[in-house]
Amino acid sequence: MKPQNPQHAAPADADVRRAVEPVICYPVDSLAPPDLAALRAAREGWQPLAQVLVPARQARCFEVPAGHFFRITSVEGPQVGDLNLWSADLSERFYSGKTRALHGTHLSTGDRMWSGFPTLRPLATITDDSLDWYGFDAFGGSVHDVIGTRCDPYTHNLLSDGGQYHHCCHSNLTRALAEARGLSLAEAEPLVHDVLNVFMCTGFTRDTGQYFMKASPVRPGDHLEFFAEIDLLGALSACPGGDCGTVHSSDSAACHPLLVEVFQPLSPPAGWQPPRPNNYDRSHGAGG
Ligand SMILES: [Zn+2]
Repeated sequence: MKPQNPQHAAPADADVRRAVEPVICYPVDSLAPPDLAALRAAREGWQPLAQVLVPARQARCFEVPAGHFFRITSVEGPQVGDLNLWSADLSERFYSGKTRALHGTHLSTGDRMWSGFPTLRPLATITDDSLDWYGFDAFGGSVHDVIGTRCDPYTHNLLSDGGQYHHCCHSNLTRALAEARGLSLAEAEPLVHDVLNVFMCTGFTRDTGQYFMKASPVRPGDHLEFFAEIDLLGALSACPGGDCGTVHSSDSAACHPLLVEVFQPLSPPAGWQPPRPNNYDRSHGAGG
């Protein structure tokens, strides 16, 4: 955080320097937008392929073949979900930082969930968001962020004088991945990564820039829907923070399950091709 009483006096031209207009770091105008009309048309007549009910304070994995859809739905009560995505062979994983740089702090319809280097390609495209009406509230908060990480037992341990809590999203995702793929916890844990915070309402405080959360506006029936651009393994944790209106990393918040449904379209969206890995040649300037 910035100091309340800076050690260094502002220079004479401080106001001029502060008044410089910002520019967008990564304009995405050069990226071909997803063909949302074709994606929506492909939903006509789709068939449910699988569904997974994620119990409160637990996580579950699910497989989504390329060209299929999956939908996360709030059931029973307001609940936040922490989503991890991998390529089905686990060689690629979601890169929340670059997704944030490209699409902003909070995702909605038409945004992509990008993989890390060196592939840097869309793993999934968001095709519907029943909370898209929320926008940004008066606190600067919004839903579906890629600014948080995932609640985890290590940070909890740091901030709670040695507390041991085992149902943080990080641990839930680790157990679920280990179970789904027959891995040890030690093998699974490094594959767990920063999440898309589904339904979570977050932002940064205007005065101190601190990460905040507030009770999610999600209600039963709300959903976030995705199109799988490649074969995916997903994992979703029903966060122990519940609607994340008070506390997390404990069993004190009211928590609810989340439903994941996978849908198979009658035929792939018109014109859709699985995205190729990034085209950078990976020579990194070696050899001059
Ligand atoms: Zn969590």
